[in-house]
Amino acid sequence: MVDRLNANIRRMNIVAHSDAVTGLPNRAAINHVLSLGARRDGAEGCRGSLFFIDLDGFQSINDTFGHQNGDKLLRLVSRRIVDVAFGRRFEDLATCTTAFGELCDACPEGIVFARFAGDEFVALLPGVNDSAQVEQIAEAIVDSLEEPFVVDGHKIKVGASVGAACAPQDGANQHELLRLADIAMHAAKQNGKNNYVLFDPNLRVKAMERNQLAFELREAINSETLTLHFQPKVEAAGLAVAGVEALLRWSHPARGMVPPGKFIPVAEQTGLMPELGAAVFDLALGQCRKWADQGLRIPVAVNVSAAQFDDPRFVPSLIDLLRRHAVDPAMIEIEITETMVMTDFGAAAARICALRDAGVTISIDDFGVGFSNLSQLAKLPVNFIKIDRSLTESVAFSRKAQAIVRATVNMAHALGHATIAEGIETEEQAEFLRLAGCDKMQGYLFAHPMPAPELERWLAASAHKTYAVRDRAQFQHNATPSPCCA
Ligand code: C2E
Ligand code: MG
Ligand code: MG
Repeated sequence: MVDRLNANIRRMNIVAHSDAVTGLPNRAAINHVLSLGARRDGAEGCRGSLFFIDLDGFQSINDTFGHQNGDKLLRLVSRRIVDVAFGRRFEDLATCTTAFGELCDACPEGIVFARFAGDEFVALLPGVNDSAQVEQIAEAIVDSLEEPFVVDGHKIKVGASVGAACAPQDGANQHELLRLADIAMHAAKQNGKNNYVLFDPNLRVKAMERNQLAFELREAINSETLTLHFQPKVEAAGLAVAGVEALLRWSHPARGMVPPGKFIPVAEQTGLMPELGAAVFDLALGQCRKWADQGLRIPVAVNVSAAQFDDPRFVPSLIDLLRRHAVDPAMIEIEITETMVMTDFGAAAARICALRDAGVTISIDDFGVGFSNLSQLAKLPVNFIKIDRSLTESVAFSRKAQAIVRATVNMAHALGHATIAEGIETEEQAEFLRLAGCDKMQGYLFAHPMPAPELERWLAASAHKTYAVRDRAQFQHNATPSPCCA
C-alpha cells in the first residue's frame, strides 16, 4: 500500500517537473534551478552561461507534418543538441530532481538542459563563462541542426535562433541571465534567424525601446492614428493606372510619423503582426468598398508579413473579410516576399493556390534580394514578380543590375508571370525597364504614396499624364485614361 502510494507520488512529481515529450526538465524545474542559483549568488557568486534556443518556423512544421511528427522532431532536436553541440550523452545530463521526483535543493553541477516552452529550450552551463567558449557553444548549437532530420519518412529541416548570456559579466543572477539570453535570442531572430547572438548591454536598451514602441503600437491598432496611403502602379506601355499599393502609416501623437520600416519589424517581433495585419486588411477592404460605391474600380495591393501568411487561418479569414466588405476578390492583391515562400514551400504553395482559386492576385515583392530557388518559384501560380528597388536603382549605373533585371523579366515571362518594377525615380530607369519588357512600374517618378482623398483627386485630374517623362518621345502619347477607375 505504502509502496503504491510512494510510486504514485513519484509519478506525480515527475509529471510536475519534466516534459512529457522530450523527457527533459520542464519550465518549472529550470525556474527552480535558476532560483537556487540566484539564492547562492550572494555567498558564492555565480559563474556560468545560459543559452536560450528557439526553433525557427516550428509552428509551420507542426501545421504541415502534424503534431505527432512535431513532437518526434522535438525529441530528435533535443538529443542532437546534447550529443553534437554539448558533446554529452542525453542520459548523463544533470537532473533537477531527486530519485523521488522532487526538485533538488542544491544547484546541479553539470549541464542543465530544459524544454522551456513549445519550441524553446534553455541550457545552463555552470562554470562556463569565457566569451570565446560561449560563442563556440552557441555556434555549435546552430550548426548541430544543419543536417535535416528524418521524421516518419519526411526529411525536415529546422534551424534555431540562439541567445547567450554569461554570469557574472552580463547579469548578477541566473534569473536575470534568462531574460538577457532571451533578449539576445530575439536579436538573433531579427538578424535573419538560424544564427546566434551573445548578449551585450546595447541589446537591453534596444529591447526596452522595442517594448515601449510595441506597447504604443498595441494602443494604436484600430485607432485613427494608423492609416493607409496608396501609391499608384502604372502600365509600362501606356502609363495607365493599373492599381495602387496600400502602405501603412502611423501618425504618432508624440513621435510624429513613424515609418513602417521601424514599426512593422517591432510588430513582427512582439507578436502584434496578426492583429495589425488584420487591421490593415480591414482598412484596405473598407476603402475598396468605398471606391466601388463611387464607381471606382481600383485594385489594391496589400503587403503581408510572414507572421500573417504562416497562420493557417490567414486564407479563410481573408476570404471571410472579402465577403463581409462585399469586395470583388479580383480587386485585391497580396504582396509576399521570396523568403516567406521559401521557408516552408509546401504550405506557402497551398495557400497561394487557395488565394488564386478565390480570385485574389499575388505578387512576389522585393524580388532579387533573396536567394530564391528559381525552379521552386516556377511552380507557384503567382501573378507578378515585383523587382526590388535596389535593382531598379542600380540599372542606371550597373551593367550587372541591368543583366539581372533583363534576365528576371525574361525568366518571369517564360514562366507565365508578369513583372512590375518598384522604386522608379528617374526617366532613365523607367526607359530601361520599359525596353527590358517590364509590364508595370511604380515609383516616385509617377506618384508618391498618398492618402485616399488625395489619390482620388490625383486620378480625377489625370495627374499621371504630367509625369516628368512627358518630354520623352516614347511616353508622350501615353496619357490614356485609367482602365481601373472607369
Ligand atoms: P514595400 O512593400 O517594398 O513598399 C515599397 C516602399 O518603397 C514603400 O515604403 C514606398 O513608399 C517606397 N517607395 C515607393 N516608390 C519609391 C521610390 O521611387 N523611391 C524610394 N526611395 N522609395 C519608394 P514604405 O511605405 O516606407 O514601406 C516600407 C515597407 O514597409 C514596405 O516595402 C513593406 O514591406 C512594409 N509595409 C508597409 N505597409 C505595410 C503593411 O501594411 N503591412 C506589412 N506587412 N508591411 C508593410
Ligand atoms: Mg510591397
Ligand atoms: Mg517592395
